[in-house]
Amino acid sequence: MKHRDIKDVIGDLSLVNSDITVCGWVRTARDSKNVAFIELNDGTTLKHIQIVIDKNSDIEYGNALRLGTSLKVEGKAVESRQGTIEINAEKITVLGECPLEYPLQKKRHTLEFLRTMPHLRTRTNTFNAVFRVRSVMADAIHRHFQSRNFIYVNTPLITASDCEGAGEMFQVTTIGYSDKYKNQDEYYQNDFFGCKTGLSVSGQLEGEVAATALGKIYTFGPSFRAENSNTPRHLAEFWHVEPEIAFAELPDVLEEAEDMIKFVIGEVLSKCPEEMKFFDAHFENGLIEKLETLISNEFGRVSYTEAIELLKKSGMEFRYPVEWGCDLQTEHERYIAETVFNKAVFVTDYPKAIKSFYMKQNDDGKTVAAADLLVPGVGEIIGGSEREADYDKLVAEMKARGMNLELYKDYLDLRKFGSVPHGGFGLGFERLLMYCTGVSNIRDVTLYPRTVGSIR
Ligand code: ATP
Ligand code: MN
Repeated sequence: MKHRDIKDVIGDLSLVNSDITVCGWVRTARDSKNVAFIELNDGTTLKHIQIVIDKNSDIEYGNALRLGTSLKVEGKAVESRQGTIEINAEKITVLGECPLEYPLQKKRHTLEFLRTMPHLRTRTNTFNAVFRVRSVMADAIHRHFQSRNFIYVNTPLITASDCEGAGEMFQVTTIGYSDKYKNQDEYYQNDFFGCKTGLSVSGQLEGEVAATALGKIYTFGPSFRAENSNTPRHLAEFWHVEPEIAFAELPDVLEEAEDMIKFVIGEVLSKCPEEMKFFDAHFENGLIEKLETLISNEFGRVSYTEAIELLKKSGMEFRYPVEWGCDLQTEHERYIAETVFNKAVFVTDYPKAIKSFYMKQNDDGKTVAAADLLVPGVGEIIGGSEREADYDKLVAEMKARGMNLELYKDYLDLRKFGSVPHGGFGLGFERLLMYCTGVSNIRDVTLYPRTVGSIR
């Protein structure tokens, strides 16, 4: 269907007087005695192009003024009073009628209401802006890593090992309900892969395999977690960016993380000015300034031990008590990021007992070289660490945790054959998107959110 993107047409005054065809959905319409106006949007930009219909001409436009109707409009480009292009319609083709029960009649609906119609909410300004920022952000992530010699690898989504050992894995099986098997072992032996398998919670272990050959790699794909908690920050299926870097210690990993976040946010600010203005106005006042400040200042850095001291001194009544050794809860993370630092901050060197087996053990014997990046409003957006590269230390830790070493033979081999200091991190793509847009529920930055008890 020959037509122009509204994005390319609307600001291009060199088009004045030329013949233009655009397509889109009717966002608003006004009907007066001699003229009718339609605001048309085709999803390429937040802006609607104005279509002017001279009612004294013989243009047929039927139900074209109804909200949600899809149109093809042919006409002459003219300059509007706002200095943009509008179109004096010469021919209007209704591509798809939209009856009055179209649910998006009112101008502003709540995000909760819109969640009940994921297939239609995409036609609102909010989701139009969210998905454009999301796309620009994804592109920026690729360009950032590619420009630094990182290789994009795709790690498997079906796995036989649970990376975090956290038991939050979705099971993958081709056997449905059955009483044919004597016990679990027999069941798994008869299953598709001949063993228990699940959807990967992280590509890290395979990422390490790639990094210890290719030097620097990143993954960018879905991870799955059977999080049984209903929070505004957790999805059962989320997109995960996981760089893994050979010849790197924790400070190198943090530097990479900081550079990446700054680059990506800078790209969003410069490539999505309209969308960011929209989010600043409707979702978080001061959003643009917040992001500009973030990219022009160094991220904070605080050790877990120092963070615990700060929390204890805070005089705050936390729901979860604070003691050295406790996991930081969202309320603690937010206090550190919002009240103490009021900017992005890395919390480093967590107690070994609350972190994963593969993290590099510090010399104090108590902590590991791990770091989470916390940001105001969202909390944790990155979790990373230097990995334990010493074979004996890693084996000892895995045994202490009662892990089945057989399942990790390949992983341990990396420490046997030319082991190198290395590390990486996992960024929750939707979490970064929340931070950049001010949208406070993760369900509203993804096309089809999957959460416990809810799937469409
Ligand atoms: P949290 O403590 O917030 O549950 P986590 O410590 O379990 O996160 P990691 O295993 O460190 O998360 O994963 C790395 C990153 O992936 C996190 O920092 C977060 O940005 C993102 N992430 C983890 N789980 C989810 C989820 N269920 N939905 C969306 N993003 C997630
Ligand atoms: Mn984490």
